[in-house]
Amino acid sequence: MPSSPEFPIPLQDLDAGGKQFHFSVRPAWLRGALEGTEAQASDAGGELDVRASMNGADVVVRGSVTAELTVPCSRCLEPAPVSVHEEITVLAVPRASMRGSSSKKGEDAEDPGDADVIAYDGEIVALDDLVRDGLLLGIPMIPLCSEGCPGIRPGS
Ligand SMILES: [Zn+2]
Repeated sequence: MPSSPEFPIPLQDLDAGGKQFHFSVRPAWLRGALEGTEAQASDAGGELDVRASMNGADVVVRGSVTAELTVPCSRCLEPAPVSVHEEITVLAVPRASMRGSSSKKGEDAEDPGDADVIAYDGEIVALDDLVRDGLLLGIPMIPLCSEGCPGIRPGS
């Protein structure tokens, strides 16, 4: 990540007990993050709420992201508003330690379930990619502009 992260978790604030973080998901950020996908940002943006705690050098992040997005209706292709709510669980490990350990995951250490594992650099865990992926995962497979969408009307 070349620029400074939109959703930074500073490690210096963390301990084993955990700390709550709240971020606004700005429409401007969403627009950039969703570029190249079918989803578009709405003016409403979204919210990111996570709890982060240290576990040795690892950081356990749990929470959820919500956002109002617009995607093409799968029947009529008109813009359909969707409310995305996606749970986020991730284990952030120092990039240095990730490089060495092959694909071995978890082992005997306390395993936070099937959490994703991301790498962090320095003193900050950036949640940007995670938030983007979570939002894309949270988009319904078959979004509809309305329950009764009749689909594309021939000849109209
Ligand atoms: Zn529709």
